[in-house]
Amino acid sequence: MRYKHVLAAVDINEDPKLVLNQAAEMADLNGSRLSVIYALEDVTHPYGDSFTPNETYSLLLSGGLKRSKERLDELSAQYGVLGGDCHVSYESWPPRAIRKLAKKVKADLIVVGTHGRKGVKKILLGSTASGVLQGIGCDVLSVRIK
Ligand code: AMP
Repeated sequence: MRYKHVLAAVDINEDPKLVLNQAAEMADLNGSRLSVIYALEDVTHPYGDSFTPNETYSLLLSGGLKRSKERLDELSAQYGVLGGDCHVSYESWPPRAIRKLAKKVKADLIVVGTHGRKGVKKILLGSTASGVLQGIGCDVLSVRIK
């Protein structure tokens, strides 16, 4: 089976080379389109309705979104992925944002890193890769981050 659209899930706060290299290689091998996503996490989510966004919050958020997009564009450009295929979303849980975008752009392969956490770290931090797998309708390639 040939993949038509590869989506790389990139955490701009870590070195994303392993994930981007693998995604770019899969896209190359399959002659497919390559898109990237970074999900900026909505840290207000746990406060629910008790959090009312004010002007400072809106300014911080738009600054954060702008910087994230600039950083993602910069990282992705090295792999030939340009503006329109670089997506920054704002979500309470990154795996949800990745799944939503995969559905929207009809990606048939998601490439995501995994740290292979164990024990307490696994319980506390979970894993983006396993969140992405929940109810996903396409293939997922998990790349071991060392
Ligand atoms: P984690 O399991 O949360 O440590 O994350 C491992 C991998 O999940 C990273 O290498 C990325 O591929 C992906 N990932 C983590 N956080 C994000 C994020 N905020 N946006 C997009 N992808 C992410």
